[in-house]
Amino acid sequence: MSDINVLREALRHSPDNLPLRLLFAQSCLDDLQFEEARESYEHVLSLSPGHEGACLGIVRVLFCEARFSEAIVRAEALVKAHPSFAAAHLMLARLHLAEGDKAAAIDSYRTAVKMDRGFMDEPLAKRLGIPPGGQESDELRPVAMGAGTSGGWREVQPGGEPESVSDFAAEIEKPALTFAEVGGMDQLKQQIRMRILHPMKHPELFRAYGKSAGGGVLLYGPPGCGKTLISRATAGEIDANFFCIGLHDILDMWIGSSEKNLHGVFEMARANAPCVLFFDEVDALAADRKDFKASAASRSVINQFLAELDGGVSNNDGVLFLGATNAPWHIDPAFRRPGRFDRTVFVPPPDEAARAAILRLLAKDKPVADLDAEDLARRTKHFSGADLKAVFDAAVESVLESALEAGRVIPVTQKHLVRAAKEHRPTTQAWFESAKNYALYANQGGYYDDILEYLGLKKP
Ligand code: ATP
Repeated sequence: MSDINVLREALRHSPDNLPLRLLFAQSCLDDLQFEEARESYEHVLSLSPGHEGACLGIVRVLFCEARFSEAIVRAEALVKAHPSFAAAHLMLARLHLAEGDKAAAIDSYRTAVKMDRGFMDEPLAKRLGIPPGGQESDELRPVAMGAGTSGGWREVQPGGEPESVSDFAAEIEKPALTFAEVGGMDQLKQQIRMRILHPMKHPELFRAYGKSAGGGVLLYGPPGCGKTLISRATAGEIDANFFCIGLHDILDMWIGSSEKNLHGVFEMARANAPCVLFFDEVDALAADRKDFKASAASRSVINQFLAELDGGVSNNDGVLFLGATNAPWHIDPAFRRPGRFDRTVFVPPPDEAARAAILRLLAKDKPVADLDAEDLARRTKHFSGADLKAVFDAAVESVLESALEAGRVIPVTQKHLVRAAKEHRPTTQAWFESAKNYALYANQGGYYDDILEYLGLKKP
């Protein structure tokens, strides 16, 4: 009888023997019998929930099956729960590399080796382009970048760091845009009215019920579905100033200036209240501090961000914080505490009625002859607002050439639009593929129930 069959037989008599089960699962994995390996690891987890070895075993199975995105989600959850589990960090390094994220792979590899030099892996280190011990030269040092960005190393020039005076200046906008220019999203608009606009317009009434004006709301969802647009319109609705802050406005290549820039942004917002302070790609600034992708430098930016949201000696009254992200799972839970981004709103792709509304808005003021918005909306399932705009742009381009030749305006027709829609692939699907994994396997406190409901995996 082969070794694996001996183990199988032994398990028949002693199915709940953990060391035996783990040994059997490992043998199955070595023997490329992935399904049986996974079943055994899951059996271990049913007996001993959260068992590190079994969790890692499942990640290995997924890696072997090339199911990298699910494997990464599980490996990240594992290192979160067991930050000193070096083998899990090493596995994460392999996964990041498989997914083409070399910077994250380097981070994870260095973490594993720093914890235990026994995890040095020469072939892997070579592929990552670093010395096997994980020591980079003194000329290189990490720069302030958070999760969701590539992060990395930059050369420090001889002569040290510059005089770091924050000369950051963001443009103040007074958006004329209102909810009328945002197609669909009726439920979201209503939520924003209740949670944001009414408290800002009638602070004394809300205070009487123990609720405050201002604070923060995190908008998350697939790209191009209107998070930025609705944030701008929110400012327009209450005639407030609007500051749009992007990651690159804040992160400075010189460690230390980022904190100053961040402080400058908040000060400017406080001086211009009432205002909406909108942080795009907020996951990069609010990265999970336990996440090893957040370097030491970015951790201090994150702490500064938390302190500014809290206000401290400053007063954040009348400043509404809106954050948009495609990767809420990378956000440090500390950002969700009261007074910070304590409300979270899922911004899904527009449904059919919303798509029709967006299409009508896009057609406004354009030479469109016979728009059948309902028909086009039916044909564009899964399209984001940005996808619909791309369809319009493509249709316009297709008639522009003939218009130039003819020297007169030739209208865009439904036919042009339908053709352009057929040629466009919706961009929201890829996001849901990885979001589904987070919602299924890292859904603490039902935080991602909205995603599961949207995907029909959970009843509302
Ligand atoms: P990202 O996550 O990539 O930053 P986002 O969710 O912030 O994307 P927006 O930048 O707000 O998306 O939307 C991109 C563009 O798509 C908008 O400028 C607008 O032209 C169009 N669009 C998206 N949603 C809507 C909508 N509901 N109504 C009208 N236009 C929309």
